[in-house]
Amino acid sequence: MKLKIDLDICQGHGRCYDLAPKVFREDDRGYVELIHETVPPELEEEARKGKDNCPELAIDFVN
Ligand code: SF4
Repeated sequence: MKLKIDLDICQGHGRCYDLAPKVFREDDRGYVELIHETVPPELEEEARKGKDNCPELAIDFVN
Protein backbone atom coordinates (compact mmCIF):
# COMPACT_ATOMS: atom_id res chain seq x y z
CA MET A 1 0.00 0.00 0.00
CA LYS A 2 1.20 3.47 -0.90
CA LEU A 3 -0.10 6.77 0.35
CA LYS A 4 -0.05 10.25 -1.05
CA ILE A 5 -0.46 13.51 0.80
CA ASP A 6 -1.78 16.72 -0.70
CA LEU A 7 0.24 19.33 1.15
CA ASP A 8 -1.72 22.11 -0.54
CA ILE A 9 -4.73 21.17 1.59
CA CYS A 10 -3.07 19.75 4.72
CA GLN A 11 -3.78 22.18 7.56
CA GLY A 12 -1.49 20.59 10.13
CA HIS A 13 -4.20 19.49 12.55
CA GLY A 14 -2.06 16.53 13.46
CA ARG A 15 -4.88 14.02 13.71
CA CYS A 16 -3.15 11.67 11.30
CA TYR A 17 0.12 11.52 13.19
CA ASP A 18 -1.61 11.45 16.58
CA LEU A 19 -3.73 8.46 15.54
CA ALA A 20 -1.16 6.71 13.35
CA PRO A 21 2.28 7.63 14.67
CA LYS A 22 4.01 4.70 12.99
CA VAL A 23 2.85 5.85 9.56
CA PHE A 24 2.78 9.65 9.73
CA ARG A 25 4.94 12.19 11.50
CA GLU A 26 5.04 15.91 11.99
CA ASP A 27 7.47 18.03 10.03
CA ASP A 28 9.12 21.08 11.56
CA ARG A 29 6.11 23.24 10.64
CA GLY A 30 3.46 20.88 12.01
CA TYR A 31 2.44 19.47 8.66
CA VAL A 32 2.41 15.80 7.87
CA GLU A 33 5.22 13.66 6.52
CA LEU A 34 5.10 10.02 5.53
CA ILE A 35 7.44 7.78 7.49
CA HIS A 36 7.30 5.02 4.86
CA GLU A 37 7.19 5.41 1.10
CA THR A 38 5.34 2.11 1.04
CA VAL A 39 3.30 1.19 4.10
CA PRO A 40 4.19 -2.28 5.37
CA PRO A 41 1.26 -4.70 5.67
CA GLU A 42 1.33 -4.66 9.46
CA LEU A 43 0.74 -0.90 9.46
CA GLU A 44 -2.04 -0.78 6.87
CA GLU A 45 -4.83 -0.66 9.43
CA GLU A 46 -3.11 2.19 11.25
CA ALA A 47 -2.57 4.02 7.94
CA ARG A 48 -6.25 3.68 7.10
CA LYS A 49 -7.21 5.06 10.50
CA GLY A 50 -5.03 8.13 9.96
CA LYS A 51 -6.36 8.64 6.47
CA ASP A 52 -9.99 8.27 7.49
CA ASN A 53 -9.59 10.82 10.28
CA CYS A 54 -8.05 13.61 8.22
CA PRO A 55 -10.68 16.37 8.25
CA GLU A 56 -9.26 17.90 5.07
CA LEU A 57 -9.21 14.66 3.07
CA ALA A 58 -5.54 15.35 2.36
CA ILE A 59 -4.49 11.69 2.50
CA ASP A 60 -5.28 9.14 -0.15
CA PHE A 61 -4.14 5.74 -1.29
CA VAL A 62 -2.20 5.28 -4.49
CA ASN A 63 -3.05 2.26 -6.59
S1 SF4 B 1 -4.90 15.12 9.66
FE1 SF4 B 1 -4.87 15.79 7.50
S2 SF4 B 1 -4.78 18.01 7.61
FE2 SF4 B 1 -4.16 17.21 9.61
S3 SF4 B 1 -1.91 17.02 9.54
FE3 SF4 B 1 -2.77 15.07 8.90
S4 SF4 B 1 -2.90 15.21 6.66
FE4 SF4 B 1 -2.68 17.28 7.44
